[in-house]
Amino acid sequence: MTVLCLVELDGAEPADASLRALSLARSLGDVNAILFADTGPQDTLARYGVTDVFLIERSTLDGYAPQAWARTLAGLATETGATAVLAAGTDRGNEVLAHLGAITGLPMAANCTLVTPDGGKTHRLVRHRWAGLLLEDAVMEAPVALFTVATDSVANVPAAPPSGGTPPGPPVPTDVQIHVHKPELTEADLRVRAVESPAGAGGASLATARVVVGGGRGVGGPDGFAPLEELADLLGGVVGVSRVVTSEGWRPHKQQVGQTGTKITPELYLACGISGAIQHIAGCAGAKHIIAINTDPGAPILAHADYAVIGDLHQVIPALVEALRSR
Ligand SMILES: Cc1cc2nc3c(=O)[nH]c(=O)nc-3n(C[C@H](O)[C@H](O)[C@H](O)COP(=O)(O)OP(=O)(O)OC[C@H]3O[C@@H](n4cnc5c(N)ncnc54)[C@H](O)[C@@H]3O)c2cc1C
Repeated sequence: MTVLCLVELDGAEPADASLRALSLARSLGDVNAILFADTGPQDTLARYGVTDVFLIERSTLDGYAPQAWARTLAGLATETGATAVLAAGTDRGNEVLAHLGAITGLPMAANCTLVTPDGGKTHRLVRHRWAGLLLEDAVMEAPVALFTVATDSVANVPAAPPSGGTPPGPPVPTDVQIHVHKPELTEADLRVRAVESPAGAGGASLATARVVVGGGRGVGGPDGFAPLEELADLLGGVVGVSRVVTSEGWRPHKQQVGQTGTKITPELYLACGISGAIQHIAGCAGAKHIIAINTDPGAPILAHADYAVIGDLHQVIPALVEALRSR
């Protein structure tokens, strides 16, 4: 059985969210990766068990065009006889797969944590509902299953090397077949197309950052974020914020962590002046370690934190920055 997986890039390498999607895809059949790029990170894809890579060259389709991407996936699904098409549960992954569902008339399930073929045209799914507060068991009956993968719940696991070594091992020396594909598109498919990103948008993405420094109402206002930016820079991370911060217009919505923002899965989440409302926790529960800085020893975030500093962030963060700089 062939499954198609849309792979998004973070620089020249697959985004962490896509590697998690590939980790799940492997259990469903031979994985064919689809990249909207001129070249593919072949070694990495081989390590995740990909057998074939379809490159959609930029000369054919430059920029991000959700309907055109979906049309391309639809064509390849037919050409390869795929039994499933999946993507990471990112903004793009969910948008493209929703378009694919609309184009093909097939059902699409978002944010799955487990997918098991159940014979014939049936797949059993477990998926997140209510921002991950509820897990739903579902059965999908469709000739081609369309779904996205809940990236905060599925582990990033390379395929075991053929020698039986312990993953993550050295690159698996498999032959990945590269195909350059030219999709058949119409003008209408390209009506919505993002061809450039605003200056400054090229940094690490909130969804895939290894360190996130979070700021909430306790930061006090738009001017209070400079020390958090400095700390994030020193730690090689990015700044994330609570909804109060975006509602007040202190920071843009793309930095919001939570149920109605981005779900993050960093090694470290430093939550500064954030109370820890359930809608915020829905976005940061996938962090491996949480450190809270809060003046209130009774703040709900403390129930989720591995460590906490009870104190004023306006004193604690500059002290942290100074300590890191002196090292
Ligand atoms: C449908 C819905 C969806 C939502 N989606 C989201 C979402 O995606 N993301 C999200 O974040 N929220 C979301 N919310 C809002 C959520 O319920 C909270 O209102 C919000 O998360 C609170 O933000 P906050 O923690 O910054 O502010 P507050 O709850 O006001 O907490 C501020 C914290 O800062 C501490 N503090 C104050 N001064 C200092 C200081 N000097 N030093 C250290 N600590 C200090 C306080 O003790 C307090 O704990 C949603 C709500 C609804 C109803």
